[in-house]
Amino acid sequence: MADKGLIGTNGKVVDSDRIDEFQAAFGGQVILRGASDYDTARRIWNHSVDKKPGMIARCSGTADVIAAVNFARENGVLVSVRGGGHNVGGRAVCDDGLVIDLSGMRGIHVDAKNRTARVQPGVTLGELDRENHIHGLAVPAGVVSKTGIAGLTLGGGVGWLIRKHGMTCDNVLSFEVVTADGEFVTASSEENTDLYWALRGGGGNFGVVTSFEFRVHPISTVLGGMILYSADQATDVLRFFGNFIEQAPDELTAYAGFIHTPDGDPVFAVIPCYSGDLTEGASVLAPLREFGDPMLDAIGPMPFPAMQSLLDGAFPDGNHNYWKSAFLPELSEAAIATLVEHAQKITSPMSALIVEYYGGAASRVGNTETAFAHRKAQYSIGILTQWTEAEDAQPHIDWTRGVSDALRPFASDAYLLNFLDAEGDDVIRAAFGENYPRLVEVKNKYDPSNFFRVNHNIIPTVS
Ligand code: FAD
Repeated sequence: MADKGLIGTNGKVVDSDRIDEFQAAFGGQVILRGASDYDTARRIWNHSVDKKPGMIARCSGTADVIAAVNFARENGVLVSVRGGGHNVGGRAVCDDGLVIDLSGMRGIHVDAKNRTARVQPGVTLGELDRENHIHGLAVPAGVVSKTGIAGLTLGGGVGWLIRKHGMTCDNVLSFEVVTADGEFVTASSEENTDLYWALRGGGGNFGVVTSFEFRVHPISTVLGGMILYSADQATDVLRFFGNFIEQAPDELTAYAGFIHTPDGDPVFAVIPCYSGDLTEGASVLAPLREFGDPMLDAIGPMPFPAMQSLLDGAFPDGNHNYWKSAFLPELSEAAIATLVEHAQKITSPMSALIVEYYGGAASRVGNTETAFAHRKAQYSIGILTQWTEAEDAQPHIDWTRGVSDALRPFASDAYLLNFLDAEGDDVIRAAFGENYPRLVEVKNKYDPSNFFRVNHNIIPTVS
């Protein structure tokens, strides 16, 4: 019996017959080392991640997920769970173990009458926007269309509708989940309420979510786009941006940031999205559009899915990436000066330093109402570093860390889970904030053996 390269956590290879038996009953596709599509299947968005799983089980439905969970548990195999594969730290994949790959589960059913959508976990944001848009509806999600809805929702989910309709996790009505013991459960405000609470910001710690039921909102055409300024206006525009966005109505979400033109020239951008009456939106945006001396004002009405893919070109598949983030309670003069100083030292024209402002509906949810604890965090800074060649990594990583360290004096002791690269337990714990002890209780109940641990891990205290 030749082994097939699937190794248990005890270091022993899993018997080939057992793999054959699993494969024969599996509805989806099982990809083993040596298969022609193995290298494609193990790759994720961030090519700095180069993990080599023993087996990839591309599930066709919930029954496959249950089979994969049971197989891994019974054979002592490490599992990771893959939604859209966009987690920058590579938590969708693992070495030697089993990847429960949900990318084949892409069903979406929008119930326009009841304003809900039932969504499988392999769906990307772009696919969800497209189906909703037929009905003039939208789910609040992130801002790059290839991102997976699953990981994004479980980590909170921040995007263009955050101020009007809250975080993505605030819009989940129910989850269907396969737990570590292979049980299928529903979590909602009526059933398994502890799990429902934990899944809204607690990451992939508690089971495999096999479907999400979202509340959807009437959003069809928005007023959005981008205003570009020369880099030397960054300080003035950032100062203005802070005052402007803090006074803005909930319909407006806007980011600002240090980016580059396609030719690689550094510029400063403000990216607004107004999701209300377009005439009112034009007056709300007028002071922004009249400020400074923009090089380009590309603001206009557009279908919401177009707004949702505006930034796609800046985040292509296959680059090397290293990210850090920080929350700033305020955009002080000193913080602005620090951002500007470090942006001037940026090491790659593909990298960006982004300032996102929350507030609005997301901030009116209490810190402990869902597992996402940083409701009052205000400014989220994304230090998003990209480069193309593996051997060039160090200066880019050093720059990212340099910005992060320089922002520490202005930052709160909090992190955005969804932007966490490989970090220590202390940072992960800080990302869960005051909710960590309660999350441990839920972990103890649903996954006491830490079967789901290739994630932003909440370590159980029972075993
Ligand atoms: P994956 O990498 O597939 O999974 C990440 C983790 O989620 C896994 O470890 C797993 O534990 C867990 N997981 C995934 N699916 C399931 C499931 N069905 N059940 C249980 N656990 C699961 N975040 C925002 O909030 N807003 C943004 O605008 C935004 N923009 C982004 C843009 C880019 C280009 C990228 C790369 C990331 C962005 N993110 C954003 C961060 C993003 O939300 C996270 O990376 C998130 O993890 C992506 O989800 P995924 O399904 O693609 O993740």
